[in-house]
Amino acid sequence: MSSKMTHKQELWRSALGTNYPKEYMEKNEQRLYSELRDIRALPENRTCADCGAKGTVWASVNLGVFLCMTCGAHHRSLGTHISKPKGATGTYWWGEDEIAHMKSHGNAQAKMVYGEPMPPNGVTSDDPIKWKQYLTDKYVQKSIKFLELHTQTPATAESCMDLQVTLTVLQNTTDVMATQIQEMWRSALGTNYPKEYMEKNEQRLYNELLDIRDLPENRTCADCGTKGTVLWASVNLGVFLCMTCGAHHRSLGTHISKPKGATGTYWWGEDEIAHMKSHGNARAKLVYGESEPPNGVTPDDPVKWKQYLTDKYVHKRYAPSPDKVATPVLTKTPPSTPTNFSPQSSKNTKFTDVLMPDISSIQFDSPRTPTVESKNEKTGAPIVSPTQDFFASFGL
Ligand SMILES: [Zn+2]
Ligand SMILES: [Zn+2]
Repeated sequence: MSSKMTHKQELWRSALGTNYPKEYMEKNEQRLYSELRDIRALPENRTCADCGAKGTVWASVNLGVFLCMTCGAHHRSLGTHISKPKGATGTYWWGEDEIAHMKSHGNAQAKMVYGEPMPPNGVTSDDPIKWKQYLTDKYVQKSIKFLELHTQTPATAESCMDLQVTLTVLQNTTDVMATQIQEMWRSALGTNYPKEYMEKNEQRLYNELLDIRDLPENRTCADCGTKGTVLWASVNLGVFLCMTCGAHHRSLGTHISKPKGATGTYWWGEDEIAHMKSHGNARAKLVYGESEPPNGVTPDDPVKWKQYLTDKYVHKRYAPSPDKVATPVLTKTPPSTPTNFSPQSSKNTKFTDVLMPDISSIQFDSPRTPTVESKNEKTGAPIVSPTQDFFASFGL
């Protein structure tokens, strides 16, 4: 670790302004390139965003579009304040931030913002001056219009500059985080957060967890029904548990349950908190049944209790029959979080998606305690970048 810190100066800077340790880039080169290739291979990204030609070997990283070689070359003439073109065939490194940006943007979205890849009549990429005018009209003027449309206030070149300033600030924040990139903490749901971020937000995150833990429905243990001592939780199952039941969950194995103390001893990531918020004991009742073990079975008998938990969470033996889980029951569930519930989504169709912990998406080999170092995380789950969130918030 300390040897790594002395090599802190060996950083590689992405076109979006994030610094990554070169060592990290070298290690992840192949994986990152495969990810880029997968995005480039999507049907919508196979034709050039500017001229419509088939075959895209370049991209504009900041505009988030894939381009043919000719158009990629033309983007160079626009200046990097408008476009940052880069080869997408393995010659150059692509950072996590750049790949995330291409993924969340791409040529389909670009059509909505900048229009179809159709230059005005008679303008071809053979005429550098006219083509440059076309690209400027397209990417500068259209983005002003788009901003206008979405902010409902007259946008000007100045407000676009504001946007640029905001971006720069965010990128600087990302830089700070990136230099600490090896010091990551991994949540039980598999997200890597910079430790610095976790330290900074520890209190806020814990308060959020407490608020959820204190909801009436979360105050009785999801397994045995004990009141008021629910100090543990199963992060992936999204239930709050008494200390005894929390301990029993350890015996189930992390492929079934990932228990964690909920009293401030452990860090809780944003993803884990969002998960507890969108699940919780009220919803668990609808999925796994009431907190009533079969007659005579108590947590004092580890073998029988383990069987009860397995029946409950794995085989769903105590799940209410589908007719009991009708709409009226659903309306009783707390409207706790907007995070995973879009108001426009139909309650009935989204019901199972929302309720079932997506076990398949959870990585089970992650360390549970925050003290375990997960430096240079092998497969590197996407690093959370504020820049990325920023773009996502635009819905682009
Ligand atoms: Zn082209
Ligand atoms: Zn219990």
